[in-house]
Amino acid sequence: MEKFNPADKIQDMQYFGEFGGVNPSISDSSTYTFLSAKTMFDTFEGNADGCYLYSRHATPSNLYLGQALAAMENTEAANVTASGMGAITSVLLQLCKSGDEIVSSRTVYGGTYAFMKNFLSKLGIATKFIDINNLRELENSITPKTRLIYCESVSNPLLEVANLPAISKVAHRHHLKLVVDNTFSPMVVTPANHGADVVVHSLTKFINGSSDTVGGVICSSQEFINELRSVNDGACMLLGPTMDSFRASGILKNLRTLHVRIKQHSVNALYLAEKFEKDGLRVLYPGLKSHRSHEIISGIRNTGYGFGGMMTLDAGTLDKANELMEMMQKENLGYLAVSLGFYKTLFSAPGSSTSSEIPIEEQKEMGLSDGMIRFSIGLDEDIDRTYRKMKMCMEKTGVLNAALRVA
Ligand code: PLP
Repeated sequence: MEKFNPADKIQDMQYFGEFGGVNPSISDSSTYTFLSAKTMFDTFEGNADGCYLYSRHATPSNLYLGQALAAMENTEAANVTASGMGAITSVLLQLCKSGDEIVSSRTVYGGTYAFMKNFLSKLGIATKFIDINNLRELENSITPKTRLIYCESVSNPLLEVANLPAISKVAHRHHLKLVVDNTFSPMVVTPANHGADVVVHSLTKFINGSSDTVGGVICSSQEFINELRSVNDGACMLLGPTMDSFRASGILKNLRTLHVRIKQHSVNALYLAEKFEKDGLRVLYPGLKSHRSHEIISGIRNTGYGFGGMMTLDAGTLDKANELMEMMQKENLGYLAVSLGFYKTLFSAPGSSTSSEIPIEEQKEMGLSDGMIRFSIGLDEDIDRTYRKMKMCMEKTGVLNAALRVA
């Protein structure tokens, strides 16, 4: 069988604008006319293929982007949303009702964790947060009330890789849906090829790649996407997490270079991870043999895209992490900013930023230390120059010496 290559799937798509342009035209309308009242009625009923009704429901621009993302993720269909959280919250609210339970990985994005723990609980939907790769714990957490299993393919911020083939087997044995957030590893991992039923992304990150747009997507079966879009009880229709057509058009253009960018992010991240590990720092990167998920990612990744652009490094204490990040920004090695997937390296201390919603005791339990810095490694052409300058910052701030003393 031919190997699945997500970049080929995007390359093979063909679009023409309404005047023969090589990019599809942007649909700049919130509502659409009908030649007959009967067709309008049929469209409301979901029976008029190819007709547009109202832009909260669907727009040509959003459908083009959705088609490309579904092709990339090897699913039947996709629905784009205004943000990654718009995708995640819509999926969870579509699948769960009061009294239901979710089993989630405990290492998920802070916003997802807060939504499950603080928001869904108010609606009577409870979440059990577990070590998702501990299959016995996973089995034991499932009850007759469980509706879905949730995890990130490469987790935020510890970069643990979910054992998707094993987790999906458990999910399907219990007739549960497996929902996977693939934001950290587009192209590198294709969760649907390993049993995921629903794949979500924050398009805000690598997929758009220019840190100018917030966006999200839900990739799944045509049946589930139709449910999400239902005018009667579809979360994407009724909660209103709609992407703007101009944004969809911009993201589609950026998506076409994603494979080239991911390769460079991955080459650069592996280079720095190997160098800093050799220097004696505590580095987490799934491409390193020392990473606890190295074997798992080696078994599920698509070849040719490396291990992704995310890396973490322990500076010892939060003060040291802050000092180091401020110095790296002054030296123009990147920006002290949350988010990921930019051409410049971005760094932040997750314990006090993107994962701050997670209580300190739980952060400790999952191995998230105070001094941890999360890096989204940029597209630097000369990565050895970057390494040398970063190392100088680590020497000047004492981060390197402190790490060597501990080792
Ligand atoms: N999923 C992951 C893994 C994230 O890192 C983020 C944001 O940081 C989100 C989802 C939420 O995406 P958005 O900010 O586009 O709503």
